[in-house]
Amino acid sequence: MAEDDCTDQHPECLEALRQIHLYLDGELTAEVRQQIGAHLSACPPCGSAYGVHEAVRHLVERSCRAEVPPEMVQRVRSAIEAVAGEAPSSI
Ligand SMILES: [Zn+2]
Repeated sequence: MAEDDCTDQHPECLEALRQIHLYLDGELTAEVRQQIGAHLSACPPCGSAYGVHEAVRHLVERSCRAEVPPEMVQRVRSAIEAVAGEAPSSI
């Protein structure tokens, strides 16, 4: 139970993880965007979760035009689960 272990137990982290998709879509107000952005850069676990989601987003965009190997999708999914823990995935 390390106190600096900022994971999905923190309300701020839960909120940031919940908003990641909206953040990526640019559907947040400037104020909320700033809050989430600040949290993502201040909190390494959330920052890396955001990095994974961003990578997936690019992958999904590309998959509209080209086939993505199932193996790669599986690998990215595992990475998300490892980073996001119990956070629900809407992918
Ligand atoms: Zn966090």
